[in-house]
Amino acid sequence: MQIKCNVLDRQFQMYQREYEEAALRVLRSGWYVLGKEVEQFEEEFAAYTGRKYCVGLNSGLDALIMSVRALGIGAGDEVIVQANTYIATVLGITENGATPVFVEPDMYFNTDADQLEEAITDKTKAIMVTHLYGQASNMGQIAEIADRHKLAVIEDCAQSHGACFHGKMTGSFGISGCFSFYPTKNLGAFGDAGAVVTDDKEFADKIRMMRNYGSRIKYHNEIEGINSRLDEMQAALLRVKLSHLGELNQERVVLAERYTKGITNDKIVKPQTREGADSIFHQYVIRCKDRDRLQKFLAEHEIQTQIHYPVPPHLAECYRRLGHKAGEYPITEAYANEVLSLPIYTGMTWEEQDYVMEWLNQFYGI
Ligand SMILES: *Cc1c(COP(=O)(O)O)cnc(C)c1O
Repeated sequence: MQIKCNVLDRQFQMYQREYEEAALRVLRSGWYVLGKEVEQFEEEFAAYTGRKYCVGLNSGLDALIMSVRALGIGAGDEVIVQANTYIATVLGITENGATPVFVEPDMYFNTDADQLEEAITDKTKAIMVTHLYGQASNMGQIAEIADRHKLAVIEDCAQSHGACFHGKMTGSFGISGCFSFYPTKNLGAFGDAGAVVTDDKEFADKIRMMRNYGSRIKYHNEIEGINSRLDEMQAALLRVKLSHLGELNQERVVLAERYTKGITNDKIVKPQTREGADSIFHQYVIRCKDRDRLQKFLAEHEIQTQIHYPVPPHLAECYRRLGHKAGEYPITEAYANEVLSLPIYTGMTWEEQDYVMEWLNQFYGI
């Protein structure tokens, strides 16, 4: 049996008629960028996350870059960020000329709140939190520390659509919740798309202007903006998917529970969920000391896996100028050497999953 990391057409087939209707509606409308579908989606997604405003954008990276910019954070400022996040989170900071200050993750792969205070200086302006792999971060403690030091919280929710901390949606804690709708995400479009959610009207207005060349009224440019508009097609398709997101997330939770129950190999460390936090299992990430051999072993049996992420941002070639060294963030670096994301996707059959587990349990390691 051949098992891929992702089989994107299965989720299309599940709701094919609805997607096709939405696509035709847009094609026939004669209006293709920033229109009624985008407005509707923004309203629906704001309601879903429990926020007042949503601004649809081109990508998750844009959501991060624009959030930092709209807060006036730039050269000379520092933003704290977990060291094991995806490069895009860090690019959101450095694209604005600000400096990322890395902190180690906790045992749930999220920002270790106990590390924050030590990283705060008089230049710190914000804490950027990634709800990595779909699990909500420790938002109680993080929000408390941010409040006490008067720091903005920006949430990278690219992997956490619908995940909650004590019943409250990720993306509703900080001034800005940044979402990606890249096709592989839990709420994935059929192309690139992203959004910012917030309760702050001024902030929302600024992002809205910024996404369309800095103008509220066409050709009247108040600020130096960019083009990060969401198109009608993606918005219409996202509305269909959003209406099913509850069941889609639940399907992954069930698959994750099956992995947790079915994997019995003591060479493998299974992911844990924090008290009070939900995970929507964007990824199911195991750890193994002999990870590279395990990945190869699985590949020999036609099981595809991924590593999120093999090179932590502080050691990425593009950030050599920051002067970080190997060994500086030992927990992050150990994760980079040990993590492995197992196949988990909408429409994955139990038979496929049983096949993955069968081989996982037969791996003997060193
Ligand atoms: C996917 C992702 C992004 C970037 O989203 P794009 O839409 O691809 O720009 C940012 N942060 C994290 C954690 C992601 O997984």
